[in-house]
Amino acid sequence: MPRKFIYVTITKRYLLAFTLLALALFGLSLPNTYHLAVMTAAIVTTTAEYDIVLDAGHGGVDSGGVGADAVYEKDITLDIVLRLRDILENAGLKVGLTRDSDTDVTHLADQGKTRHQRDLLGRYKILHSGKLGMSVHINTAKDTEQKGAIVFYMRNAYIDRQYAQTVFDELERVQTMNHTFIVPRSNLMVLKAKPPVIMIEVGFLTNETDLQKLTDPQFRQSIAEALATGILKYWSLYQLEQTE
Ligand SMILES: [Zn+2]
Repeated sequence: MPRKFIYVTITKRYLLAFTLLALALFGLSLPNTYHLAVMTAAIVTTTAEYDIVLDAGHGGVDSGGVGADAVYEKDITLDIVLRLRDILENAGLKVGLTRDSDTDVTHLADQGKTRHQRDLLGRYKILHSGKLGMSVHINTAKDTEQKGAIVFYMRNAYIDRQYAQTVFDELERVQTMNHTFIVPRSNLMVLKAKPPVIMIEVGFLTNETDLQKLTDPQFRQSIAEALATGILKYWSLYQLEQTE
């Protein structure tokens, strides 16, 4: 019988060693953004200072996509976000921003090897100071026929999905939609934030019709209004769900 005891002990040890090795290999095979998310999970604050945090994509040295006649994504996202902030504040929401001027947000991150990583981490961190979040971008594509808006949400996140659909329904009234449905993603850093965050690609800088629309302040105002209506509609539902 002692022999059997030893046999079992060794097997358990091997099993443990094997499990650890398998976990280590699995860890190494995960994408970089996952490591970034794990790294930041510990440093992120959980107190929500704002009702919503708006993230204007790119900024500073990072122009984002570029359209004909040097139209920069970073300028259009900021303009839409500032309009959106004004509407939401007038409706009584406390609004936070990742940036309110032409700058990137690397100064907000204390980790990350590259400028791009620090910029992502900065946005990710600030999004945690809101109960909801929205990141605004403008698309580009090789195919100049591609046009219209896309709404991205975190795959398998029920609340984010509801939020995305509510905003989609409003956006659809003022802009062509590139996808006729909200699009789930699991590899976008900002969507991984704990509060529900959705990402909007408002249109394509590489499409002539979209570019014309996006360089028109009146169109940008109508986009901001549609996004605001979606957020406010969802906000009432969200408040109810949080108090239930
Ligand atoms: Zn972008």
